[in-house]
Amino acid sequence: IMREEDLEIAIKVVIVGNGAVGKSSMIQRYCKGTFTKEYKKTIGVDFLERQITTGGEEVRLMLWDTAGQEEFDAITKAYYRGAQACVVAFSTTDRDSFSAVRKWKKKVEDECGSIPMVLVQNKIDLIDQATVKPDEVESLAREMRMRLYRTSVKEDLNVEQVFNFLVERYLAII
Ligand code: GDP
Repeated sequence: IMREEDLEIAIKVVIVGNGAVGKSSMIQRYCKGTFTKEYKKTIGVDFLERQITTGGEEVRLMLWDTAGQEEFDAITKAYYRGAQACVVAFSTTDRDSFSAVRKWKKKVEDECGSIPMVLVQNKIDLIDQATVKPDEVESLAREMRMRLYRTSVKEDLNVEQVFNFLVERYLAII
């Protein structure tokens, strides 16, 4: 017999964006509370998870990373399958990653339909080396109708907020 307290909400979240924008680091930060400078440290698993309680609901977030296989459509498609929320990330110091945001959003929508999404400008601690202007970012976010968060995974800035927002959005539509 299933009791109400056994029921748990689990959400598959995918983090997409060009290589090296900080996707793996964000997952590691959120799920393990750690940060490493090592580039593309293999986490060895497909996803990490974290449980949170929000509004009396227990929610389990499963955060999926594309594990450096961003360029391989067949692989990324398998990662996206069944995703219920998505982070589209780019880096403050990488203009190409900003230009690719639309493409990533579309890829996820093609595979998953319209799911809660958020735009993340990571590496905000490197604002001195920025290659995108704040107003460019804001206008793209507005045009795509996406909430924008500026994060530093390194400094642990705004990471929690990103996932709280997605969970709230998700709970509002189920
Ligand atoms: P991925 O390829 O998108 O998964 O990117 P990674 O998570 O492997 O990160 C790429 C590099 O950026 C690594 O050296 C990270 O340590 C670094 N990095 C990630 N987030 C931040 C951040 O917020 N600030 C800074 N300065 N470096 C970061």
